[in-house]
Amino acid sequence: MTLLDVLARGGTGEVVAMPDGVVSWNALRGATAATAALLAAAGERPAALWATPSLATVAGLLGGLAAGVPVIPLNPRSGPLDLGHVLGDARPGTILCAAGAALPPALAGLRRIDVPRDGDAALPPVPDGTRPALVMYTSGTTGPPKGVVLSREALEANLDALAGAWRWRAADVLVQALPLYHVHGLVLGTLGPVRVGGRLRHVGSFDVAAIAAALADGGTMLFGVPTMYRRLADAAEHDARVRDALAGVRLLVSGSAALLPSDHERIERLCGQRVAERYGMSETLITTAVRVGGTVRAGYVGPPLPGVELRVVDDAGADVPADDATIGSVLVRTPSRLLEYLGQPEATAALFRDGWCVTGDLGVLAPDGALRLVGRRSTDLIKTGGYRVGAPEIEAVLAAHPAVAEAAVRGLPDADLGERVIAWVVPRAAAEGRAGSDRDAAARELIDHVAAALTPHKRPREIRFLDALPRNGMGKVQKHLLGDGEQA
Ligand code: ATP
Ligand code: MG
Repeated sequence: MTLLDVLARGGTGEVVAMPDGVVSWNALRGATAATAALLAAAGERPAALWATPSLATVAGLLGGLAAGVPVIPLNPRSGPLDLGHVLGDARPGTILCAAGAALPPALAGLRRIDVPRDGDAALPPVPDGTRPALVMYTSGTTGPPKGVVLSREALEANLDALAGAWRWRAADVLVQALPLYHVHGLVLGTLGPVRVGGRLRHVGSFDVAAIAAALADGGTMLFGVPTMYRRLADAAEHDARVRDALAGVRLLVSGSAALLPSDHERIERLCGQRVAERYGMSETLITTAVRVGGTVRAGYVGPPLPGVELRVVDDAGADVPADDATIGSVLVRTPSRLLEYLGQPEATAALFRDGWCVTGDLGVLAPDGALRLVGRRSTDLIKTGGYRVGAPEIEAVLAAHPAVAEAAVRGLPDADLGERVIAWVVPRAAAEGRAGSDRDAAARELIDHVAAALTPHKRPREIRFLDALPRNGMGKVQKHLLGDGEQA
């Protein structure tokens, strides 16, 4: 059964709650059919989607899937240059948005379709599921975002695998506050509840109190990124309502970036819940996930999903032993892979080696098949004095220090060592708006703290204090923006 067949069944129960309203299955089906009819009348061109947390985003996406028109979600906070990049790349003909939405001038050339909130038409015949359905832009963590073209079948296969891994059922109420222009919020967090016949409550932008209230009011699952879990853990330290809300749900899932082991442990200690991590990328959708009822360990993103093959290989392409220690490159093969990078055949070809997708991520395999990510090859692997060091390990030790709000580590060129380990640190004092004290002493203390916890070659040679780390909309640290000249 396709996602559209699930929707076609209808029903009077609630399916989606957004900050601008709540809809039943019947209303969502009607809005989807009406949107599909408007898209069909507008021609074959792909449709941009003004992806605010609104009912129009859900019905707009489903309308595109029903009409067989590729949908391109846009980040509503993008400036004109970013919008211009996507529009020039993907060339949509229409823009789907909520009635009354104020659109920026950069979208003036597109035909506007106000997504209806209801309708009585039936859904059109289900289109070919192997054709382009969604053009999802990557997070832009390592460079300009790339348009990833995905089929509806790829989305459905991935959601089915996740539903199995998480025992995700019609009775579940998913709570989330993710942006709706990336895989996490839109595919997992929006199409997921529809796929399983369940419910979604999106609370708008991330807010600890709103998340806790939605969880306490019948939420059964939470999807979030690590920065959200860090803020929830901070709040849980002193707020019993947050502790109880987190303790009461069936499943907490984290993804998109590495959850710090110290935050994982704090949530477990305070709320009795172990956050389940999953790993993936726009190009492959989700490839590994901790299972409900399976082993949950801080720092591990679980074994591959059914139907997904995963390898960790050395530089010669040979599998590394599953010894929980040897670092290698993560390769995956999955039915949910992209069709192509939009308009970039060379980049698409370069993504694959002998049919395996080269993720660009580094990892370690545990004997039970679970993957631990070590970082990204491009920015997280530091070669210093003949050693290979993963930056996230050092970041985790720094973040566990009480004076540190957040930390990012990377290697910078060094005549002697090849690269030297540098840490960018946001002191808690800065995060809380207070002036810092003696920075040299603080830096020395942090260097000693890392040296005491890890082996000596892993200690930062220098600490650079910042007021905030550069992050993208998903809360991922944009390390390529940290370099020489960034010193605060
Ligand atoms: P870009 O490709 O534009 O530089 P991006 O790689 O961040 O940005 P996405 O496709 O949204 O874009 O994210 C995929 C990446 O996110 C993965 O390659 C991996 O590095 C990281 N990631 C995803 N899940 C996890 C996780 N659970 N733990 C650590 N890293 C993760
Ligand atoms: Mg990427």
